[in-house]
Order: sequence, then structure tokens, then C-alpha cells
Amino acid sequence: MGVGSTAMSNKRAAIEVIQRLQQHGFQALLAGGCVRDMLLGHPAKDYDVATNAQPADVMRLFPRTLKVGAKFGVVIVLIHNQQVEVATFRSEAGYEDGRHPTQVRFTTPAEDASRRDFTINGMFYDPMAEQVIDYVEGQADLAKRVIRTIGEPEERFGEDYLRMLRAVRFSTRLGFAIEPRTYAAIGRNAAKISRISGERIAAELDGILAHPNRARGAAMLIETRLARAIFPGFDDEPAVEAVAVLGHLRRTVSFPLALAAFFSGCPLEFAMERCEPLKLSNKHVRHVEFLLAHRTELLDPAMPLAQLKRFLAEPYFWDLYELERAMQKAAASRQGLSRLGKLRRWIRDLGDVDVKPKPILNGHDLMRLGAAPGPGLGQLAEELYTAQLEGEVATCEQAERWVVDWLARRFGSQ
Ligand code: ATP
Ligand code: MG
Repeated sequence: MGVGSTAMSNKRAAIEVIQRLQQHGFQALLAGGCVRDMLLGHPAKDYDVATNAQPADVMRLFPRTLKVGAKFGVVIVLIHNQQVEVATFRSEAGYEDGRHPTQVRFTTPAEDASRRDFTINGMFYDPMAEQVIDYVEGQADLAKRVIRTIGEPEERFGEDYLRMLRAVRFSTRLGFAIEPRTYAAIGRNAAKISRISGERIAAELDGILAHPNRARGAAMLIETRLARAIFPGFDDEPAVEAVAVLGHLRRTVSFPLALAAFFSGCPLEFAMERCEPLKLSNKHVRHVEFLLAHRTELLDPAMPLAQLKRFLAEPYFWDLYELERAMQKAAASRQGLSRLGKLRRWIRDLGDVDVKPKPILNGHDLMRLGAAPGPGLGQLAEELYTAQLEGEVATCEQAERWVVDWLARRFGSQ
């Protein structure tokens, strides 16, 4: 988008929506996470608006809207290439299953604040008056750096068990402590997290484990017993290893790498079975599986060149290296770390060699040289390719001679 176009930040767009609503006599405020982030001086992901205007009013005032959850009071306003969520002040009631409210009622800002999860997430801000509107002592808790439920923790977690994981995620992300009564209530209710869908659990775990503060997040998951409730059988021993390995990963890592580190003390099959309910994408499953399946293989001091090239051709090779490095650091193994250092120098010395060259001979070539079709052909092709990666054969003639020798060795000279 060029200079002078309609590009505008989500924040500016939200403020314009608020201005328009206020001009029409409605109360309209920034609400929730964005207020928390503004007060902390962080950029917010998105700026949400709360108002006493009803969805029908909002749709009348703005030419382009999406009616996503009008029943629950939520309308998306499309403005300046931005999507601004505008929600009518509401209270939620009738949580029957600890997951979804069954009714909403349009109400006052104070009641809207009290349905929110944590005090630091329960504030409003009026950008026109430049005023924080705080019914829940959110500012005091921001200053104290604590995550505290609005109201009785036991009751609030009972309405929605996902809030337990949200508490851990915000604590991890902000480096705030979870207030003791809130923390104790998570410990008492941890087992009930299993009532929440795997996808929603996975999204929270992603927020916790992909964050640089992931070791602390994992330690909380373990201490509260949320980890065991999410992954049955995840005991003390792998838990200690998980925290140590996560603590040694570099700052920025993908969720699959962090998840592999979390399971680094567990057998592959156990880990993959536990991940199933999370409904990860196939790509993420393959990523985690590759990392866990090949753990420790990089430490083999006798690794052949062909094997190294096969590893280097893998998309997740450097994640495997990073996982192994963190595991060796966690184990304080000088031998392991020195082996990895050697591997790194070996890779550097390879320069930009093609690690996945085209095979010199194809299946037709092999049959022309006398190989019979069948499983033996696959094995021959594989072994020839290994020789090619090792640099033992480089030309067509060398490859043909190699094949003839191979067939002679296998079937005797003809
Ligand atoms: P993030 O920066 O991760 O988006 P956020 O605080 O904006 O954090 P959202 O999930 O986007 O979190 O939700 C926006 C707001 O809605 C929250 O700040 C909170 O006030 C409220 N909220 C969200 N989920 C819940 C929940 N499960 N229970 C109660 N209130 C919630
Ligand atoms: Mg948000």
C-alpha cells in the first residue's frame, strides 16, 4: 500500500469508531487486553471497542459491518482496511458445562467488566477523555504485577476452565505472578481442563511454550498439575527434564520445537499419542515427530557423510540441532556439546555442497544394467545414492561400474 493510502493502524481505526459512536450519543470505550497492553506500554494485538450501542445501532452507524455474533452483542466494523470488534456491554450467565455461556444480557460497563477473566483484562479506556475506567482494581494489580481473577477464583474457573490456562499464559507472557488464591484454585480444578476442546488447549499451550519465558510457563503447568491433566501419565521425571530443556532453547522457537522439548524426556510413541487430542496440523505433527524420532542421532561420532547430507536435506534439521543442543545443555554434558560443536564445524566446512543431488542413475538405468524389478531394485538405488552422497561415485561411468560390481557381488559373476 502506498504512502497516503488508507493504511491505518487498528488502534486509530478503533478510536475513530469510538469517536463516531460518542458523537451519536453512545458510550464507547476501548476494552480488555488492549487497555492492559497500553498501560504496560506494549503494542496490543487488536483494539476492541465496548459500547452501550446495540448491534443494530452499530450496523446502522457504519456502512460496512460483519454480523459475526450479533446475538452475543458483537459486530465487526470494517473501516480503513481494518476490522474493529465492537461489543455491546454484556453480562454472561448460565455457564452449564464450564465452557460456554448459554445467555447474554446487555448491561452496564461495570457488569461487563465483572464478566471478564482477570482484573488486568477488565479495564476500559476512553481515548477522547484520555481516562482509564477501572471497576475491578486492574491498575493496582498491574502495578503489583499479578494475575488475579475478577471475583471468586473457584467460581470464575468453574464457569470456564480455559481461564486456568489463560492465567498461566498471561503470567508467562507478562512475567507476572499468579495471585496465591487464584493459583490455588487452578491447582484444585486442574483436572477439569480435560473438558475443554483440544484445539483451544493447543492454542493456549502455543502461547505459553512458544514464548521466551516458556520454562517458567511449563513449570507452572507442571506445578498446578495442568500438565498431567492435559497429558495423562506425564510424570515428575519427564517434567523436570522438560523444564530444563525448555530453559535452554534459544529465545524464539516454533511451537512444534517447543513441544518436542516439552516431551524430550518421553518416549516417542507416548508423546505422539498425547499430542493427538490437540488436533495439531499434519505439518506440526510431522515436525514434532521428526524431532523426537531423531533425538540423540546427531551425537553419533561415526555418522557417515551420506547420513549428514540426508539430515541437512530435512526441513527441520536446524530445529533438531537446537533441540539436541538444549538437551545436552540441560544434561550439562560437555561431551555432547563438544560433539555438536564438531558437527557444526563439519557442516560449515561442507560449504554449499548440494545435499540432495539428483540421483546419477534412475530405475530404468539400473534395469538396463541387469537389475531385476522388485524390492531389490529399491535397495540397490538407495545404496547407490548413499555412495553418491559419500562422494564415492561422481560420474555416470563410475556409477555404472559400481552397479555392475554390486550385482556381481549379490548374484555372483555371470
Ligand atoms: P491477547 O493479547 O492474547 O489477545 P486479550 O486480553 O486481548 O489478550 P482475548 O482472548 O483477545 O485476550 O480476549 C479479549 C478480552 O476478552 C480479554 O482481555 C478479557 O477481558 C475477555 N476474555 C477473553 N476470554 C475470556 C474468558 N475465557 N473469560 C472471561 N473473559 C474473557
Ligand atoms: Mg485480544
